[in-house]
Amino acid sequence: MRYAMAIDTKKCVGCSDCVVACQVENNVPVGYCRDWVTETVDGTYPSLEIEIRSERCNHCDNAPCVRCCPTGASHIVEGGVVLVTPNKCIGCGACIQSCPYDARYSHPDGHVDKCTFCLHRVKKGQDPACVSVCPTKCMYFGDLDNPNSDVSKMIAKRKYKTLAPEAGTKPQIFYLI
Ligand code: SF4
Ligand code: SF4
Ligand code: SF4
Repeated sequence: MRYAMAIDTKKCVGCSDCVVACQVENNVPVGYCRDWVTETVDGTYPSLEIEIRSERCNHCDNAPCVRCCPTGASHIVEGGVVLVTPNKCIGCGACIQSCPYDARYSHPDGHVDKCTFCLHRVKKGQDPACVSVCPTKCMYFGDLDNPNSDVSKMIAKRKYKTLAPEAGTKPQIFYLI
């Protein structure tokens, strides 16, 4: 079992419904977020290309945030999902510094928080909240070890990239390009 996400940059319209759904589903405090939308412009006028991406923790296979955590609060569970145990976190911020994707934030309650791949929903057979609300259906979630999962099928038939591969973190979010 290896949970992963594929996100189609050709279908994302940047509506931020994924961000709002995550905030509501996960009681993310006002002013903070576990996912966010970026827009990058490539090329020169008039041949400009805009890429819009919904970003979050990449649930890296080689996660520096887990390695540097002094208390074991940051850990990896079945399916490769990277989680934080709030009551083990001392708020030192080492993991925030180590993440090349800026995917973690300090929760006002004193612990660090980030995307959980909505494991509480996944365990019930539901898609993550962000995936389930996307109006263009541009996100695909599932088990990479299952060739019939949505995510496996998408990365088998499309070109894709990961973010900051040079960091060596082995991200498990694949951007279809
Ligand atoms: Fe850790 Fe950042 Fe990778 Fe998430 S994206 S697993 S927080 S290094
Ligand atoms: Fe670990 Fe918490 Fe420190 Fe992050 S802030 S490294 S989760 S103890
Ligand atoms: Fe938020 Fe869940 Fe999507 Fe992660 S998988 S960004 S926690 S809604």
